[in-house]
Formats: sequence, C-alpha cells, structure tokens
Amino acid sequence: MADTPVRVRFAPSPTGKLHVGGARTAIYNWAFARANHGTFILRIDDTDPTRSTEENTRVILRAMRWLGLDWDEGPEVGGDFGPYRQTERAQLYRDAAQRLWDEGKAYPCFCTPEQLEADREAARARKDPFQGYQRRCRSLSREEAQARIDADEPYVLRIKVPEDRGDVVVRDAVHGEVTFAARELDDFVIQRTDGTPTYNFATVVDDAAMGITHVIRGDDHLSNTPRQVIVYEALGAPVPTFAHISMILGADGKKLSKRHGATSVEEYRDAGYLSDAFVNYLALLGWSLDGETTIVPRDVLAREFSLDHVSKNPATFDPAKLDWMNAEYINRMSDEEYTEHVMRPALEVAGVEPGEHDADWWAALARICRPRTKMSADAAQVAAPVFATAETLAYDEKSVSKGLGREGMGAVLDAARGALEALGDWTAEAIDAALEPLPEALDVKKRLVFQAVRVAVCGNMVSPPLGETMALIGRDDCLARIDRARSMAA
Ligand code: GLU
Repeated sequence: MADTPVRVRFAPSPTGKLHVGGARTAIYNWAFARANHGTFILRIDDTDPTRSTEENTRVILRAMRWLGLDWDEGPEVGGDFGPYRQTERAQLYRDAAQRLWDEGKAYPCFCTPEQLEADREAARARKDPFQGYQRRCRSLSREEAQARIDADEPYVLRIKVPEDRGDVVVRDAVHGEVTFAARELDDFVIQRTDGTPTYNFATVVDDAAMGITHVIRGDDHLSNTPRQVIVYEALGAPVPTFAHISMILGADGKKLSKRHGATSVEEYRDAGYLSDAFVNYLALLGWSLDGETTIVPRDVLAREFSLDHVSKNPATFDPAKLDWMNAEYINRMSDEEYTEHVMRPALEVAGVEPGEHDADWWAALARICRPRTKMSADAAQVAAPVFATAETLAYDEKSVSKGLGREGMGAVLDAARGALEALGDWTAEAIDAALEPLPEALDVKKRLVFQAVRVAVCGNMVSPPLGETMALIGRDDCLARIDRARSMAA
C-alpha cells in the first residue's frame, strides 16, 4: 500500500472518559497522519449500548480538542465516509454479514449456550488442542437454516474460517511478524442473536469501508488481529498495516490505573498542565525522535513521527517527568505567551482581578514569575503579592517572625521607607540602588535588611526578586505596606 494515501483512525468506545492510554493512541494516529500528509479519522465505537453514553462521547471530543488533536473526518466535522458513530452504521454491518452469508463465508449457528458449554467441556476432557466452537452448524444446509430462522429459533452468524487457511501471520509495524496458529482460529461470531455486530466484525467492516491503511492501537488488541484478518479476507478487502503499541505502566510495573493517580485527560487539564507539554510527554511514552531529545513540540512531532521509532516495550508513566516537562514548556514561553496562556488564566481561576496594566508591565511580571512557575496554577500564587494591596496582602506568620522579629528591624524598615520615598525613578534598578547602602549605614547584615523589606512588602520570604516586584507594585502601595508592617517589626 506504499502509494496509497495514509488514512488512520482513532476509535474510542465511549464507555468512559478519555484516558492517558487512549490519548497516546490518539496522538500516534494523529501524528502519523500529519507526518504522512494523510487523513486522521475519529470514529466513535459505541456499539456497546449498555456502557456507551452520549455524555462520554461529548467528554472524549472535548478532551481531543484540548489535546489539539484535530480530526479530518468524524463527529462534528463530517466526511465522505460517515456516519462516524457505529450505532449509526448498523445497517452496514447487517448488509456485510448478509453478504458473507450469501457468499458462503458465514453461516447461522443455532447452538444454545448449554450446547456450547457441553462441547467445550468435552474438548477439555479429551484434551483436544482446539477448544473453540466445534462447528456443529457449519454444515447445515441453507434450507434447513432458513427453516429454523423462520421458526424463530435464535441464531448468531459465524464466520467460516476457510478449511485451508493455515496460520495467520500478522506483520506488525511494532512487533514484527506475529504468527497465530491455524488451530486457534475459531468460527467466531460476527453477528449476535439480537442482530448487532461483534467488535471484531464491526471494526473491520468500518476500517475497510473507511479505507483505513494503518491500524494503530493498543497491544491489548493484538490477540484480536488474526480474527480481524479473517474478516478482511472474507470481505475481500485489503488488510491494513497494523501497529500495536505497548501498554503504559505505573511506577510499580502494573498497568496504569486509578491507583496510580489521575488517569483521565481532563484531570490533567484541570490540574493546570499545558496541553502541549502533556502531548509531548505522552508522545514519548513509547516513541522517540532520536533516542535522546525530550522536548518535541507538536509541529516537530507532526513532521517527524514514524512507526519505526515506536518501541514494543511497555512504557512507564512518570508523573515527576511530566511535571518537569510542564515546567520546561512554561519556561520556554515568550512573555506574551506566558501572560496569555498561564498568568491570566491562573488569575482568573484564583478569582484575582488584575486591573489595567500595559504590555511592558505584564512582560516584566512574566519575567519574574515564569522561572518560578512549575504548574500554571503556581502563577497566581507567585504573583499574589503583586496583585495584593497594602490592605489585602496576607502576611505569612513564620516569615514575619523570622524577617521582622529580630531586634533592629523596625529601624531597618524606617530607613528603607525614607530611602524609597526619596527616590526619583520608581524602577527596579533605582529601588535596588536605594536599598543597597542600608546594610552598611545601619550596620545590619545585607541578607537581614533585604529579608525585612521583602517580608514587609510581599508578606513572605520566597517572592520573586525584590526590586522588580516592588517596581510592579508601585511606590505608594509599597510604602503603605511598609507602614503596615512597621507595627509587626521589633
Ligand atoms: N473501540 C476499540 C477500543 O476502544 C477500538 C479498538 C481498535 O482500535 O480497533 O479499544
């Protein structure tokens, strides 16, 4: 299929939210499509009516949008191969099943669950290497089968695995050649008694109808693949290239689950992770650009992704590394990006009304807060002293006792106030220069002087650089804060 344009799909079942594992599968499909100038299709596999919900579908689409994984065909965008929800494709599955039956490639089976169980039991007892369906109904004549259907006897449709099919060899882009022995191939069910298709059938009918060239999905589906190959062959459709990607494990080596913390994509969104950092991190769980580069922005991923760099070994989800990645993305932002995508949203979530400031003011704020922001939400906290006023500023008790409690700190604040009040320019450099001579003049250690002023103006000892912060706060409010702090100082 070398010259066929790439068409891939992500086909989540809306039985829950979009999880980390599904998101990574989606990312690989998206990136593969983009890197090959192909088409990325989103299909909703909602054939399990008891567990699929409209709400889950909505949440999955929303999570996909947050991840920035735009799809070319699918719900909300349409396309030439729709509909893109399996529940809306029921007739296609029935038609395909009927066609296979008409062509003698499928047949109705009337065996009751009791009969099937008894046959399995007998196969076990005689140690038959084949323990699947014993093909009782395979040789029923068409007339006989039709008569039983007309008499309302429940039946399923089973695929007829050709007698001489032999082993199924799957050429997987990640796992290489995987052979499934012929004796393990069962005449499996393609249509249930209620007329609904089974997963292995519906998936292949859709993948064939949608012209899917590469099936990239979790390797929990590898064992389904030989059955799907049999369906492709029965349908007379080309078998796509398969790429089964490894599981994601938690730090304890067990499959990632709730026990390891957040698993759904939107939990990460709500915790303040950046979509770009999250996508970068997930992309590296099983794929690498060159074995060492860790920052792979979206556009590079979309250009460079290839299946031959996907590892077949399970990947381990490491929350600390994700946090590092997130901080790294924040640190690489421009002042404007940081202001718009991190600071302003963080302030909004924190309920802080920032007031009117010009672009230079925001840029200066970005410069001092960005290196101290690991998670988006940190931004509001780091910037809190800047957005407080002399009345609203919260003083951290420990900082007050450590920074202002020492003998002589009252005099330090008085001297600082005098120097600041007399300043011509209210800039970071001027503020620093005004405070600089105080330690010597007062004969107090430099660290203690700056610590006292910092606590008085910011309420804590961990705020960003003092001069820059005070410049942003403004002179009047800084002086008012020093006045307020004066009564707390010894
Ligand atoms: N709906 C299936 C799942 O969510 C899709 C599997 C596949 O990609 O074939 O696991």
